Amino acid sequence: MPEVSIDSCKKEVLIGYIGILYRKFKERFPNEPINFTEVKHGEWLWELADNGWADHICSKCGYTINTDIHVIVDYDYCPNSGARMDGE
Ligand SMILES: [Zn+2]
Repeated sequence: MPEVSIDSCKKEVLIGYIGILYRKFKERFPNEPINFTEVKHGEWLWELADNGWADHICSKCGYTINTDIHVIVDYDYCPNSGARMDGE
């Protein structure tokens, strides 16, 4: 089977996925509000960790990733809060 990248999906296909995910989310968390228009912005704060790497801390939720600076630049969004890490 050919591998299909999500980046090359047509708009209609992506919207279909959003619909499926929205339904699944509402099944599991019926009382949780979803606001698609709210984009949270944050930035990675960091401090040196004991293991010699850095603790990168989400400015929005405090989620911490202990990793190297070359890895953290690939994290455009916080995996915990979904904040977009553009520092705005
Ligand atoms: Zn976060």
